[in-house]
Amino acid sequence: MNSFIPLSVPNLKGNELKYVTDAIESEWVSTAGRYVAEFEEKIAEYVNAKGAVSCQNGTSGLHISLLLAGITMDDAVFVPTLTFIAAVNPVKYIGASPIFMDCDDSLCMDPIKLEQYCREECVIEAGKLIDKVTHKHIKAIVIVHVFGNMADMVAIMEIATKYHLKVVEDATEAIGSYYISGRYVGKYAGTIGDFGVYSFNGNKIMTTGGGGMIISNDENCLKKAKHLTTQAKSDEVNFLHDEIGYNYRMTNIQAAIGLAQLEQLEGFIQTKEDNYLMYKSLFKNSRYKLLDVRNDIRSNRWFYALFCDDIKTRDGIIKYLSKKQIQTRPIWGLIHQQIPYVSEKAYRIEKAILYWERIVNIPCSTNLGIEEVERIVEQILNY
Ligand SMILES: *Cc1c(COP(=O)(O)O)cnc(C)c1O
Repeated sequence: MNSFIPLSVPNLKGNELKYVTDAIESEWVSTAGRYVAEFEEKIAEYVNAKGAVSCQNGTSGLHISLLLAGITMDDAVFVPTLTFIAAVNPVKYIGASPIFMDCDDSLCMDPIKLEQYCREECVIEAGKLIDKVTHKHIKAIVIVHVFGNMADMVAIMEIATKYHLKVVEDATEAIGSYYISGRYVGKYAGTIGDFGVYSFNGNKIMTTGGGGMIISNDENCLKKAKHLTTQAKSDEVNFLHDEIGYNYRMTNIQAAIGLAQLEQLEGFIQTKEDNYLMYKSLFKNSRYKLLDVRNDIRSNRWFYALFCDDIKTRDGIIKYLSKKQIQTRPIWGLIHQQIPYVSEKAYRIEKAILYWERIVNIPCSTNLGIEEVERIVEQILNY
């Protein structure tokens, strides 16, 4: 009997236990402690950002970023429909309205349709982008760098400047991805827009069990992010609070794990790249196509997306592999079609439907060996 191959699991064979043991022995286990500050510094250094503020998870980081972008309940925000729902829910936490956008062949937001919406469906009044139908002020874009690929940030940032939009980069899947040519050469996912957010959930390329990080190059925003994630306490001694804050801080134990994971991140990315190339060569001349990333980036290769002929094949593969002890899954259900969002605006969603029908995600853990990749491909080709 072959052993079970999971889709994406943590790899904790570095200094995790050592640092966590140290945190526990020191009895600094909560939101204060040296690992939190050190992890924040090391992440900022790794992605060449001015600073980083840790938080409980990627979702809370996105919530705080939208608050810092000045989003209020009367505003609207551009979001992708082909993504994990956590990229969109924070818009609703604030009571604002999402406007769903299509993807392009990178699986990230299509800048052409985004620009078209701004130009044809909106007017600019006193420097504000106003939706002609809802009369809402559209203030920001949430850009998701899907599966470790990157969105077309040159086009997106030009649109953002032209239409006065803040940019929140949901880089929860893309830590370590960066541009290798063009205007943003050397720039990491999460450091190009106004805010960037990483996630250290268990299925991400590096994990803290659960955790997140907010990135910004603006000192004031970083200060504000720290303030909002620590209950907006303005007076430590007397417990005075100057606005509504949140208990969103990361703990020292999580940060201890994170620090050990960060030490291994480049190695994880190398393994993901090696396995990607292995998959790619084994699928050559088959009816399946392993999707690639933009050619102007170094990708962290977080998730592998296999493109099938049709939805029937996709579902068939998932079922067949499950019987063979191999875990795969379809790409996320489109957000604009989900119960909490069916009445929101969605604009010319076409490509997202195609990719939703055809993509199956295949195992991508950094623990994956060559024999396992061979076994997975063999079973898919057997199907
Ligand atoms: C994982 C993920 C999140 C949320 O991160 P958590 O740490 O799980 O809250 C948000 N957006 C996308 C696209 C993700 O993949």
